[in-house]
Amino acid sequence: MLRQKHLILFILILLVLTTFSTKGYTGSFFDTLELSLEKNIGQNGYQSIIAQKKVIHLPEEEAAHLNAIFKSLVNTCRRKGELEFTLTVVEDKTVNAFALPGGYIFVHTGLLSFAQTDGEVAGVLAHEIAHVDRKHSMNAIKRQIGMSLLLQLILDKNKSKEEMAKVGNFAINMSQLGYGREAEYEADRYGAYFIERAGYQKEDLLNFWRRIQGETGGKEDPLFLQLFSTHPPTAERIKRIEAL
Ligand SMILES: [Zn+2]
Repeated sequence: MLRQKHLILFILILLVLTTFSTKGYTGSFFDTLELSLEKNIGQNGYQSIIAQKKVIHLPEEEAAHLNAIFKSLVNTCRRKGELEFTLTVVEDKTVNAFALPGGYIFVHTGLLSFAQTDGEVAGVLAHEIAHVDRKHSMNAIKRQIGMSLLLQLILDKNKSKEEMAKVGNFAINMSQLGYGREAEYEADRYGAYFIERAGYQKEDLLNFWRRIQGETGGKEDPLFLQLFSTHPPTAERIKRIEAL
């Protein structure tokens, strides 16, 4: 029964595609629907993160300063007009940051204490913004759940809560596990571009990684474990960022 439903859905989509593709409607039509699904997935994931982790409200001046850095980076990215990027500080002493679809960026208090300069913070935030800007999470979701379920979620006005929670959890897992080496290098490349356009230096970002490497001597350290498991080897990424 479900298969039949999918088949009918596919035929309908194909019809729409063939009817409108020459007129250039479908691209924007599906992009709009996909965008609204992305926001929905992000919102779902955001809710479940803030239910699990303690959100930290920094003192007013510090918060304004951090938000100004964040805004200056968001303003350099391609998707700034279609998404409302938000930054949430959560209590966690590990040095980490992550992003959910729809522009929900999280940073751990541990990273804020480890970073020595605005440029270092900017470097990490820019990397996370780049994941969203390059749709790494949405692309991974598409690969994972398949086009048919994705279309179903897009077209179903009363989205099944269960399915949405499932996809939201998948997005959270991806944000913790990383998006694969190529996506990580791409986020580094775009991140470096964003920080330079926002007035910071690539060197700031490199300092951050060099300090991490110095601190851990390349060995596993629980404070940095997440960064190591989600990202390519530090030495390799430093080399690549230097070469940009
Ligand atoms: Zn990453």
